[in-house]
Amino acid sequence: MLNRSVEAFKEAQKYIPGGVDSPVRAFKSVGGVPPFIDRGEGAFLIDIDSNRYLDFVQSWGPLIFGHSDEEILNSVVETAKKGLSFGAPTLLETELAKEIVDLFESIDKVRFVNSGTEAVMSAIRLARGYTGRDDIVKFEGCYHGHSDSLLVQAGSGAATFGNPSSPGVPADLTRHTLLAKYNDIESVRRCFEQSEGIACVILEPIAGNMGLVPAKEEFLQELRRLCDQYGALLIFDEVMSGFRAGLKGAQEYTAVVPDLVTLGKVIGGGMPVGAFGGREEIMNMLSPEGPVYQAGTLSGNPVAMAAGLAAIRKLKSDPGIFERLEKLATALIKGLKEAAESASVPLQVEVRGSMFGFFFNENSVENFDDALKSDTKRFARFHSEMLKKGVYFACSQFETGFVCTPMREEDIEDTVEKANEVMKSI
Ligand SMILES: *Cc1c(COP(=O)(O)O)cnc(C)c1O
Repeated sequence: MLNRSVEAFKEAQKYIPGGVDSPVRAFKSVGGVPPFIDRGEGAFLIDIDSNRYLDFVQSWGPLIFGHSDEEILNSVVETAKKGLSFGAPTLLETELAKEIVDLFESIDKVRFVNSGTEAVMSAIRLARGYTGRDDIVKFEGCYHGHSDSLLVQAGSGAATFGNPSSPGVPADLTRHTLLAKYNDIESVRRCFEQSEGIACVILEPIAGNMGLVPAKEEFLQELRRLCDQYGALLIFDEVMSGFRAGLKGAQEYTAVVPDLVTLGKVIGGGMPVGAFGGREEIMNMLSPEGPVYQAGTLSGNPVAMAAGLAAIRKLKSDPGIFERLEKLATALIKGLKEAAESASVPLQVEVRGSMFGFFFNENSVENFDDALKSDTKRFARFHSEMLKKGVYFACSQFETGFVCTPMREEDIEDTVEKANEVMKSI
């Protein structure tokens, strides 16, 4: 029963466009009403009608320790008692910066912001300032937040220069964004040949925003080579994969070292934090050290830093954690795959650490075009049937799922059992 959520959604829509503060939450691609959440407990969400769901969304990634983790909460509460914001330096910022520099080989210095969107927007400005060039290359299906120059879609015909994907974005602002195909190095080579000067290539090294689609090692190696050849910077957007695919993010899977890295989600432990970092000579271009302007009234907010610091330290202090999480995620997708097979439903599955993905698709998925061939109607039926049974999966086929530490093997077995019933009916 979702009676109260139905009412709450109606009321919200009167005052908030679409009733939500971020579009994916409205459940448009699966239909139905989004449950309004009252609280979270470990691996579970409880909605305002008192339904209980096993949560594979975990706030879209940040909550690797599940909801209301005691250590993170304590750290937030203790810090909040000293004041919510000062607009002046605190020790917490340096402490969190040190933890990140210690983990990422490619990061000598880091700056904190308030969201992943802001981290990417700033990193791109820095890359442009550092190289003195305007064009950037991004990949279809990779998401880097909602800043103007990144809201692009493929243009018509052979052109690789992007068109705005949203009204309100002037074509002039996407004119410098070239679009390439994920895992396809020739498409990147064409961008370099067409452009008069590329500042950077940005990608999710483990793409999580078209479903879960990891980059191939050879593709990353070739990207590094092309960037070096043309003097462009390589940016890994690890807002999702950082501290999620592994403690050190994509570094655990590839030998390729980027020039800049963007972080978010887990780094805030559930509070709004983003960050970008890289080699010292590049980072020193940022104001006040250098000429590239970047700022934020609430950047490095002490309460947010305290949450992030507690989360990162907890991750670091438990060396077996990603092995355990990957075991859970693997058991889940293996179970889903078997359930699908026994119902003759084609399903593609993928795991990276605590991240998992599945496509209702006959063929393996290596890029956005492949992903789009998935059966979204079947996914919608799967989603709503699982939700009725108390399993909360992301409400779109093109999202990544997440496991968290409070999940137990029994929770996964229970989910697989439910999937077995549902696969037969969709
Ligand atoms: C979530 C995400 C962003 C945007 O972060 P916000 O905090 O939502 O602004 C950027 N890049 C990637 C890879 C993401 O997954």
